Amino acid sequence: KELKKYFPIKAGVFLQVVGHVKAMESVDFHINRGETVGIVGESGCGKSTLGRTIVKIYEPTDGRIIYHDNDGGEHDITKGLDKKIRLKFRRDIQMIFQNPFDSLDPRMTIRDVIREPIEAHNLVPKNEIDGYVAELLMKVGLYPEYAQRYPHEFSGGQRQRIAVARSISVKPRLVICDEPTSALDVSVQSQIINLLQDLKAENDISYIFISHNLDIVHHMSDRILVMYLGNVVESAGATDLFDNPAHPYTRALMASIPGWDPLDRKLQNIRLEGEPPSPINPPPGCAFHPRCPYRMDRCDKEKPPVVEIAPGHEAACWLHTK
Ligand code: SF4
Ligand code: MG
Repeated sequence: KELKKYFPIKAGVFLQVVGHVKAMESVDFHINRGETVGIVGESGCGKSTLGRTIVKIYEPTDGRIIYHDNDGGEHDITKGLDKKIRLKFRRDIQMIFQNPFDSLDPRMTIRDVIREPIEAHNLVPKNEIDGYVAELLMKVGLYPEYAQRYPHEFSGGQRQRIAVARSISVKPRLVICDEPTSALDVSVQSQIINLLQDLKAENDISYIFISHNLDIVHHMSDRILVMYLGNVVESAGATDLFDNPAHPYTRALMASIPGWDPLDRKLQNIRLEGEPPSPINPPPGCAFHPRCPYRMDRCDKEKPPVVEIAPGHEAACWLHTK
């Protein structure tokens, strides 16, 4: 609810705060049980910051995150949590990172990498852990014998499978996947996507799936949030978003998907050019106005509010509001 994250920029001998990276301005959304919510946008739009704030790697500058546990409890995780709830939260919500080369400790065998969270949460009796690790490795398409090896002995795709095995070992209810395939070869990407989808079907997991690639997000998600410079500019069901993209930025992202029909009228005259502006000094009004072919007089002065333009479909653009 109204999540905001500013990172201070410090400079000079006394490290004074000279500005802020406005990574997230005011993000509102919810995720239901068993649902996949995709978050898409270019680098610097705040999508990774959002994911990391939800797992408590970052403290939000403002706003609240409400966690519903499976006993009917409702907790604001931006406040201090008592130990029991904190443990529950740590187990319920897992994260898979972009780079499988950084996320696994090189000094640990795969067995220990996967064992660690299982032991921390006391999930299975000690003498059954190795059997459970073997089962998890098979579940993600690896041989149980790999348990004795070290991360450097594996390819990027295999390491990401190991990271997936570790994250599902504690039977989480929500897994946040931050660009889980973008460090991998194209040929391996779809294997990981298929693995994540199979695991979801079997284990009743919700995903927050973060990517700069709208095509992959569309494939994975029930609902999609489109982010631009720290703001959610459009959100809708995945099919609805693709059939009726409302925000010019969403249309531009769609037009940049290779193989998209160039004669599609909705997408004509819109190409994403250049880089997004800096989140240190975002443009006033609608942050997309310097790149928007539809911009009007008010667009660089007034920030468009988020409005519901159809049931379950919201956008923040003056084209859709008065
Ligand atoms: Fe373009 Fe104006 Fe809409 Fe922003 S508010 S996306 S500048 S038309
Ligand atoms: Mg990122």
